[in-house]
Amino acid sequence: MARKTTRARIEAAKKGRAAKPKRPAARARADARAMHGELPQWTQAEVEEAFRRFQAANPAPKGELQHINPFTLLVAVVLSAQATDAGVNKATPALFAAADTPEKMVKLGEPKVRDLIKTIGLYRNKAKNVIALSEKLIAEHRGEVPRTREALEALPGVGRKTANVVLNIAFGEPTIAVDTHVFRVGNRTGLAVGKTPLEVELKLGDVIPMKYRPHAHHWLILHGRYVCLARKPLCEKCIIADLCKWPGKTVLAAAHAPE
Ligand code: SF4
Repeated sequence: MARKTTRARIEAAKKGRAAKPKRPAARARADARAMHGELPQWTQAEVEEAFRRFQAANPAPKGELQHINPFTLLVAVVLSAQATDAGVNKATPALFAAADTPEKMVKLGEPKVRDLIKTIGLYRNKAKNVIALSEKLIAEHRGEVPRTREALEALPGVGRKTANVVLNIAFGEPTIAVDTHVFRVGNRTGLAVGKTPLEVELKLGDVIPMKYRPHAHHWLILHGRYVCLARKPLCEKCIIADLCKWPGKTVLAAAHAPE
């Protein structure tokens, strides 16, 4: 039965049209196969080609969290845990207009911060962390956002992913922050298979050529957010469809690879 389905998809691809999208159960099985490392390995030439295309399509990708300076970036990333960037961006203009430095944030106080971010999930705890991390920045870093992973991860509410985002966007480090989108794209495509975000991050760091590393996490996030969607990936619009190893993909050749 499975062979028949695969043959039908190959025939459809030969005729230049996408095969019928797989049902959710089939996609889940394909994702499980990917997670268990059953996909073929990418060659280094394929990795290079994928990132060449990402760069050609979007030479200067940007993060979508609004911020004014490294401190407001740090706060925005802390607020984005288990929330969407769009949801955070609705709340932060008023917050950052009132406080764009640790000193102003502490002066604003936890009740006011809580009130300004109450549309964001887990806002009570996040307000607590924003005040606590502001106090720590003042006490230990002269009000500046530190540039090392260790110092960043020692701040309240800051984990490895947040530190990676800040190091990358604020300080230009070639770090790769693995969020839910990067985790899915890494596993699903077979580019970087891992059971934890850290495993995926380390594998991506091993395979992505250094010249693409500064923008790599943005390209992968945007790809996961707008093309390689969790429930129904848009394989027919995907610029790396021919390179992707996911058995559930609905096209077998890339029609949109940019020059
Ligand atoms: S072909 Fe593209 S959109 Fe489809 S699963 Fe692979 S990476 Fe995702």
